[in-house]
Amino acid sequence: MSALEPKKEHVSRKAGLFTESVIREMTREAIKYGAINLAQGFPDFAAPEEIKRAAIEAIAGDVNQYAITWGAQPFRQAIADKVRWSLGLEIDPETEITVTCGSTEGMIAAMLATVDPDEEVIIFEPFYENYAPDAIISGARPRYVPLHPPRWEFDPEELRRAFNRRTKAIILCNPNNPTGKVFTREELESIAAFCQEYDALCLTDEIYEHIVYEPCAHISMAQIAGMRERTVIVNSLSKTYSVTGWRVGYCIAPPKITSAIRKVHDFLTVGAAAPLQAAGTAAMHLPREYYAALRRDYARRRELLLGALEEAGFGVWRPDGAYYIMTDISHFGFSNDIEFARALVRDVGVACVPGSSFYSQPARGAQQVRFCFCKKEETLLAAAERLHRLTKRAR
Ligand code: PLP
Repeated sequence: MSALEPKKEHVSRKAGLFTESVIREMTREAIKYGAINLAQGFPDFAAPEEIKRAAIEAIAGDVNQYAITWGAQPFRQAIADKVRWSLGLEIDPETEITVTCGSTEGMIAAMLATVDPDEEVIIFEPFYENYAPDAIISGARPRYVPLHPPRWEFDPEELRRAFNRRTKAIILCNPNNPTGKVFTREELESIAAFCQEYDALCLTDEIYEHIVYEPCAHISMAQIAGMRERTVIVNSLSKTYSVTGWRVGYCIAPPKITSAIRKVHDFLTVGAAAPLQAAGTAAMHLPREYYAALRRDYARRRELLLGALEEAGFGVWRPDGAYYIMTDISHFGFSNDIEFARALVRDVGVACVPGSSFYSQPARGAQQVRFCFCKKEETLLAAAERLHRLTKRAR
């Protein structure tokens, strides 16, 4: 290379288009200040004994080599059996399931497998922060459609305007992170009608399917008439079984889409940890009472944190599902959410996620922050005590 030639940029344009995860950064900030981490959504309580034992036994039994790239057969069979009772869907484990490294890999693999560069994907906003980088990495053009507080509803007219002949897919997160919204059957049917009219797919992240509060109930997009053949369900062990560090997830999709996802997945990661897939089989066999207890426990934690936040002066949007609370911080008089979150972690000792990280335009989330309540009651009580110290600033 001659000295006259311009230097090559060592970093791709793609990688320059998004920032590091703000959520994961807040976890590092929490560690730095010894703060209670109500930012990143991972439990601080134990995972179920049965599944930990299954993981230990798998390693002791030398389940230590690559599993089949799209997932160990017993695990895929167990997923299909569980989906039969929980969603009433018949899934063929041989042709319709791909086991991935968490739903994080599941979503990006699904996008890479289905969306071509310059096709559009619709994303409801506020959105789980991974979807925007996922769109950039897969070359898709994101189109954002707002969910309007207080009920985080979408305006069907705004949604209609987002669909066009380049729309390849809509990304749904149901139950929703960060808002706690649980999409109703009517809402799902209205989204489904647009998908069918525009021949678009629905990539639905249902990682919080079992964390839903009465009287709401989870309905999968794949259960809506005409949608099974155009839906990819992305799910994971992370939240339902409190094992976010295991990195085991799965995609459920019709055979043609599944074979594309399997190819992408194979060359991205080869496969998820084999012994933890064996433990995943045990997880899928947990009795139904496990899920009822999970919901009851989360309902208690939700009340605890809602009360603490309201008492401390936050405006709260009561979640119907998932384990987050979006809050309005406008009473505290901070110029934006980042400044507020930095002050909260440093001076009060509680970490939250700045709202702007869930929006395509930071200004939209500048007076919002998100807290998670996937913590032991004692952790939430300690956080409540600290939040109590937060003096209300005049508006
Ligand atoms: N999808 C949503 C909506 C999430 O909230 C999270 C984690 O917070 C993930 C995916 C990541 O899931 P996994 O651990 O399975 O990669």
